[in-house]
Amino acid sequence: MPIRLSTYLKNTYGEKVYRLSLASGCTCPNRDGKISYGGCTFCSEGGSGEFAAAVAPIDEQIKEAKAIIQKKTDAGKFIAYFQSYTNTYGDADRLKALYMEAINREEIVALSIGTRPDCLGPDIFSMLKELNEIKPVWIELGLQTIHEKTARRINRGYELPVFEDAYKKCKAAGLMVIVHVILGLPGESKEDMFETVKYLSNLTPQLDGIKLQNLQILKGTQMYHEYLQWKEQNQDKQPSEDMEFNIMSMEEYTDLVTECIKLLPEDTVVHRMTGDGPRKLLVEPLWVTDKKRVMNMLTKKTAGCFH
Ligand code: SF4
Repeated sequence: MPIRLSTYLKNTYGEKVYRLSLASGCTCPNRDGKISYGGCTFCSEGGSGEFAAAVAPIDEQIKEAKAIIQKKTDAGKFIAYFQSYTNTYGDADRLKALYMEAINREEIVALSIGTRPDCLGPDIFSMLKELNEIKPVWIELGLQTIHEKTARRINRGYELPVFEDAYKKCKAAGLMVIVHVILGLPGESKEDMFETVKYLSNLTPQLDGIKLQNLQILKGTQMYHEYLQWKEQNQDKQPSEDMEFNIMSMEEYTDLVTECIKLLPEDTVVHRMTGDGPRKLLVEPLWVTDKKRVMNMLTKKTAGCFH
């Protein structure tokens, strides 16, 4: 059976560990023209990490992020969490200095780096290996789907073998790998989504962690425009599973996630089960803003799925 992130952290560090959302100042090659200018079609200008602080010295960012958490809790251990954009896309020496500043602090227990599998060159790998000797390094890869047709449709900008190669290299380097999957991408059936999760479950070496989230249509994205156009053309049709855009209800989504969790191997850590998009940009599905209700439903439905 898989394991919840909260349980994993408590077992590993003896107490609740909190994430500090930090910014590395990296951009994304799928946005700055190296791969494309448009970015992944679901990604908003904030680079898929809407809550990261503006780029300031790391020390300052950590202090500010900690202060917010410590207003409400007695938190003492933290993960330095770099999620927005592509946090290995840049000069390895600059990034090493920046990440070192974070992990050299006693209260930081791990470093979490969100990136693309095509941004892990040899110099970046040797930097990550070095950092991993000081504190555990988690690499978060935004795969979203294994299906090439969907990957092209969402302008992901790389093919599955690129992910496979990066995955193997990360594991060989001793890094923890967490893969992001989006459920409900346009044109994908439930079977397609299960295939993605099954593929990840069968990876060798075994997958360390997974983040599952529902597709969110955000204002200003390419997908938002596609969605509006599709909606106009399909306004008279009843929603159904085989439609191009199938915006799931909370019940449908939580059922789907439960089925996905059941497919995961022993001890894979589930880092996320639902999306956490910016309210001001969210167009669909609106139920995600009621995080408490979604989490309650997920907790109930997945009760027997974790150990
Ligand atoms: S790779 Fe990440 S940051 Fe870049 S466009 Fe895609 S989702 Fe956004």
